[in-house]
Formats: sequence, structure tokens, C-alpha cells
Amino acid sequence: MTVTDDTVSITRPQIGPRQLFIDGQWRESGSGTRTDIVDPSTGQVVTSVAEATEEDLDAAVQAARAAFDDGRWSALSGRERARILNRVAELVRERADEIIAVESVNVGKPVSLCRPVDVLTTAEQYEYCAALAQTAGGSNRETPLNAHAYTRREPLGVVGAITPFNFPLILSSSKIAPALAAGNSVVHKPAEDTPLSALLMAEILTEAGVPAGVVNVVTGKGSTVGEALLQHQGVDKIAFTGSTAIGRHAASVAGQNLKPVTMELGGNAAHIVFADADVEKAIGAIIKGFVFNTGQFCMGGPRLLVERPLYETVLTILGDAVPGVPVGDPFDPSTVVGPMAADKHVRKVEEYVQIAREENARIIAGGERLDLSGGFYYKPTVIADLTNSSRVVQEEIFGPVLTVQPFDTEDEAIALANGTEYGLAAGLQTGNVARAHRVAAKLQAGIVWVNDWAMLDPAVPFGGVKNSGFGREYGPEALESYTKVKSVVISLD
Ligand code: NAD
Repeated sequence: MTVTDDTVSITRPQIGPRQLFIDGQWRESGSGTRTDIVDPSTGQVVTSVAEATEEDLDAAVQAARAAFDDGRWSALSGRERARILNRVAELVRERADEIIAVESVNVGKPVSLCRPVDVLTTAEQYEYCAALAQTAGGSNRETPLNAHAYTRREPLGVVGAITPFNFPLILSSSKIAPALAAGNSVVHKPAEDTPLSALLMAEILTEAGVPAGVVNVVTGKGSTVGEALLQHQGVDKIAFTGSTAIGRHAASVAGQNLKPVTMELGGNAAHIVFADADVEKAIGAIIKGFVFNTGQFCMGGPRLLVERPLYETVLTILGDAVPGVPVGDPFDPSTVVGPMAADKHVRKVEEYVQIAREENARIIAGGERLDLSGGFYYKPTVIADLTNSSRVVQEEIFGPVLTVQPFDTEDEAIALANGTEYGLAAGLQTGNVARAHRVAAKLQAGIVWVNDWAMLDPAVPFGGVKNSGFGREYGPEALESYTKVKSVVISLD
């Protein structure tokens, strides 16, 4: 993990109460109800956000629909849209310190990682999508008809974007940037606990020149405002990132309404270490893979599979190294692992570690909360000797927990890696190029990393297979899922 030292001056921000962003205006919710926003590193309330009603959500969809229909954004040329999206990226870079402070106080992200990860990725997503806006389009089709046939890629209309708590900035951008590049309007429902950066991005999008009504941000509960967005007949596509359980429900509602959906769901990736790996390099990737974002990372690597000759060696190294990973205040520039985003997430980790103890697993490191300033901390934890059928291995813990299992053959490693319901990411460490390609082809995952972890880039598509979902974000593939194809055939008679 690259920790930067240009975050020394970033301090906890003062944030006033935030409102809904509908049709270019900041408004209170119709009910006047508000949700407290808590700093996970202290457990203290830092501000509150408006909790939207179904009527507020309806107003946002109507605004997005009107903006789409009158062409204030959808009818701009790709080049004009690109100019504004590039301006968004510039503003994200210019306002980086402010964004980092907001994201850190809301999610508990270490400020030292927020710049190279969250801020940079967000800026690059807008830049990448700006390039796509100028180059994407239809194509001519050769046909024996006496006709000129071509396709047009047209925007879908109003996109309902629903995002989870763990990477608020990056995941909202991974939907809003391609949706805007393609000419759509958006109604965004961020996670109830971590909506602050989405509201800040609404300011930035407006400052960059995105017209009123084109992007609307409605904050509130998933069961009310999220559900209303899913069910709304004025929405043309649902772009959902979140848990498999809610995704399953969202996909069924979209199916009932015959709306296209992309589903970026849970993960539980296996990280395979073959005996021919560069162990020192592998250890860095292993630790990054499970502590990054305090393990609240859908593409984390919480299931380590180690070829038997290296098994005890790797456990010994992890037992020495993991307690030394700097855990602490996200505003301390030396912190690598911050608190979890909410106390309920720590309690979930505690339940899984308790199950591991009851199954007589070996706790190699961690295994308990870290009592620090009233925050939601859990020590990075390594657990050995569980079987593949354990719930601790099978289920998505979504915390800083690594399970470690031995294997004897390449086929066994692949079977163990593929042996859960999930298929988002996977990875392997090996010095054998042929094995790298062979195993990568057999792993059931949307992305496979070899000899490192979490190498993500707006140009490289990612997404799930199996219960990790369908559809791809990033890359040109992302733009495709925000457009529909129309064929035009002109008679030459
Ligand atoms: P979640 O499923 O609880 O919530 C996701 C979003 O759905 C939130 O905005 C929530 O308010 C909303 N929601 C809840 N109920 C709803 C309903 N009935 N109708 C509409 N919306 C509703 O997920 P979470 O706990 O915020 O995030 C963690 C999960 O997200 C993990 O499973 C993680 O793996 C997954 N995730 C996946 C990716 C990916 O790219 N595949 C990325 C990040 C997180």
C-alpha cells in the first residue's frame, strides 16, 4: 500500500447539516427527518443528513427525467460532455484535501491512503469516461441489403445508482461517470451511514458545469428511499453495488419491471500461494489483500490458500508481521488501518472469530477489538486450520480477517478457491508463468491478480460471476451498460 506524506495537514472537518440535492437545489426532506452521521474513529456524531421520503425520491426522478427529455445533457455532443467531465476530475484534484477529510471522518479511511486510492481513482474515472464520451459510438454494418445500415449507441435515460458504505466516492463515481459520459441522467442513493462524499460530489459536479437535474442525490434508508428508487417506473436502469442479499432483491424487482441492471455484489476471494512464489513479495500482497480498507473491501483476499511446504512458514511470518501493521486514528498520517465504518461491522467480525474459536481454529494474530478513543476498531486477525466448509471461510465477513488453509496440488487449490458462492476477485502468487495463465483461466472470478493484489484501474473492467453479480464496471464495458443499441437501415433504392 502506498502511503503518502502529503496528508499531514489534513484535520477533522466541521460539517454542517446536509440536505438532499434535487433538480440543482439543496432541500430538506419532506418529513424533516434526519440521520446522524458518526465518526467511526470516535463513535461521536459529526453531523446529520436529511432522510428522503418517497415523495422526495419521486421529485428527484422527475427532475432527472425532465433533464433527460429536454436534452440539456443528453443532447450535448460527446466532446462537450467530455469537457465537463474533465473539469470534474480537475476539481476533484483541486479539492482533494477537503474530499479526503470528509471521506475519512465519515468512513474511517486513513488520510494517507485516501489520496492515492479514493481521490486519484475518482479523478481518473472521470478522465477515462471523458475519453470514452468522445470516442464511443455506433458502427457501420456491412449487409447484402441494398441499404446503408449502422448502429447508434443511445443513452438509456434515468439511471438509479445505489451504492454501499465502504468506498462511497469511488463507487458512486464508477456509476455516475460512465452514466454521464453516455448522456444519461442520474438519481443516486448512497449508503445511509456514509453519504457525505456523494453530497460533496454533487457540489463539484455542479461547479464543473453538469446542468441542474442531471445528477440528483437522495440520502436515506435502503428499505424506504432505496426501495422506492428500485420500484420507480420512471427509472430506466438500476446500477446496484452492495450485498448479495439486497442485490438479489434488487435484481428481482428490476426483472419484474423489465429494467436492465448491473449487479456488483459480495465477494470472498481466494489468494493462492504456490511453493514457487516469491514469499517476501507475496506476504506484502497477502497483508494488503485483507487489511486494505480495514477488510471492508469486496475485492479483498480474505481466504489464503498456501501450498503445504510453505504453510507453517507463511503462518510464522504473518504472526510476526500482522501485529505490526499500524492501526489507529485515520487522521494520523502513519495509520494504515483505520476503524471499521460502524460498530455493527465490528460485532459481525466478533461473531465470526467466536465461531472460529468454537471450531478449535488457531488464532495466529489479532482476534479481538482494539479499544481506542471510543472508535470501531478490530485488530487485523489471522486464523489457521479451518476447513473449507466452515462458515468463517464460506461467508463474507467483510472485516480485517484472514483465514489460512493448506493445499497439496494445483487442482486442489483451484477447487478450494472456487468452492464458495462468490466469484468477484481471485489471485495467485507463483514464479511459474505457465501456471499463472493456466490457473487464472480456471478461477471463477471477474478479475484475477497474479503476484500482487488489488491492481485496479479505470481501464480494466471488473465485476462478478456466480453470486457476486453480473455486468462490468470500468473499461469501455462500463459505457456499454449505460447505453442501448439502435439499428438504422436506410434504403438505397
Ligand atoms: P447493502 O446491500 O446493505 O447496501 C447497499 C445499498 O443498498 C445501500 O445504499 C443501501 O441503503 C441500499 N439498500 C438496502 N436495502 C435496499 C432496498 N430494499 N432497496 C434498495 N436499496 C436498498 O451493502 P453494504 O453493507 O452497504 O455494503 C457491503 C456489501 O457491498 C458487501 O457485500 C460488499 O461485498 C458489497 N460490495 C460490492 C462491490 C462490488 O464492486 N462488487 C463493491 C463494494 C461493496
